[in-house]
Amino acid sequence: TQAAEARERALPARTRDGHAVAIGANVNNPEQVPLALDHGAEGVGLMRTEFLFLERGDTPSEGDQYATYSAMLAALGGRPLIVRTLDIGGDKQVAHLHLPREENPFLGVRGARLLLRRPDLMEPQLRALYRAAKDHVPAGAPTGKDAPLSIMMPMITSVPEVLALRAVCERIRGEIDAPPVPLGIMIEVPAAAIQADALARHCDFFSIGTNDLTQYALAIDRQNTELAPEADSLHPAVLRLIRMTCEGAARHGRFVGVCGGIAGDPFGASLLAGLGIDELSMTPRDLPAVKARLRASNMADLRTLAARACAEEDAAGVRALDGAQS
Ligand code: PEP
Ligand code: MG
Repeated sequence: TQAAEARERALPARTRDGHAVAIGANVNNPEQVPLALDHGAEGVGLMRTEFLFLERGDTPSEGDQYATYSAMLAALGGRPLIVRTLDIGGDKQVAHLHLPREENPFLGVRGARLLLRRPDLMEPQLRALYRAAKDHVPAGAPTGKDAPLSIMMPMITSVPEVLALRAVCERIRGEIDAPPVPLGIMIEVPAAAIQADALARHCDFFSIGTNDLTQYALAIDRQNTELAPEADSLHPAVLRLIRMTCEGAARHGRFVGVCGGIAGDPFGASLLAGLGIDELSMTPRDLPAVKARLRASNMADLRTLAARACAEEDAAGVRALDGAQS
């Protein structure tokens, strides 16, 4: 029945041997939150704020952004929200920003690289976020993975970028006298996965963007339809980068999420859990099947599965392990 289905969706993604994986939804506006919660989301693991810029013909003001982030926090009622700062560039071009044309936009001034060059874009966004934290995050709210608001930086490649972004965040937080807000980074460039241990020292959490990590690891443009069948996030090279990311994070006690498309695939989600991923965030419609699959699994088996997948020679070999597991 419908009621039984709704009850099932609301259950945590806890494996049979008692290991819980946090489950979030990728949601870009407050109107989508009720649907995500209804599908079993425990929070929002990725809010892509470039949509605030893409959906309109001009740049949203600090006040507009403050209103949107406040509405997100209200809709979530204290459940975790991870807001990603602007990820413009690559496939996400915003005409009204009049950014210079680039030969290779995916390898150009994108994400954090743009933020660091354009304080006029980054600073109003951060002020809006810290004001929302100050006004809507109650004192004594949980920190870490359960924090009601976290800020995440896109397209990070190096430690100096993180230090520079952190410094801006701290200055703005000080000016506003806002409470601390966990600061995380996207791991979506192979250099960042390889240097995860160094990066983990300087931020509070990671979220792996497997869409871009796959694109950059396999040198396949994520929009190239001809090569789409080969752009498989379950390629063993990508899985090994994810494993390195988890190992680097574990060394500093940081949690790791995945918010790329593969998190919403039940087999992909099983592998990711086996690799040590703490949180999976996906399109709302993918939530029920992923939760059901994890609830039917044993973490001990998923760890074995993940180790075998990393040792495979190609993505087809990894995919052949689906169903072969006990
Ligand atoms: C990703 O790259 O996997 C990701 C989640 O970010 P986006 O798809 O917005 O680039
Ligand atoms: Mg990305």
